Amino acid sequence: TYVIAQPCVDLKDKACVDECPVDCIYEGPRKMYINPDECVDCGACEPVCPVEAIFYEDSLPDELSEYATVDREFFAAD
Ligand code: SF4
Repeated sequence: TYVIAQPCVDLKDKACVDECPVDCIYEGPRKMYINPDECVDCGACEPVCPVEAIFYEDSLPDELSEYATVDREFFAAD
């Protein structure tokens, strides 16, 4: 799955939402979240993010590694 990291916090540009073919990017209180059970790993959202907040989960830079499970936990809490 792809994930959305810290650069999205308090920004929520939402350019990614229009690109997602399965509408699996949802708005949270402070950032956008990708539902890992719905994401089809197409990668369409990644290049349109103006702040480069979106990464494939295994490709997060070290300083953003804590975001590997943030989106998954957001939906698990529902
Ligand atoms: Fe949606 Fe594709 Fe991005 Fe997954 S990788 S969130 S399916 S646009």
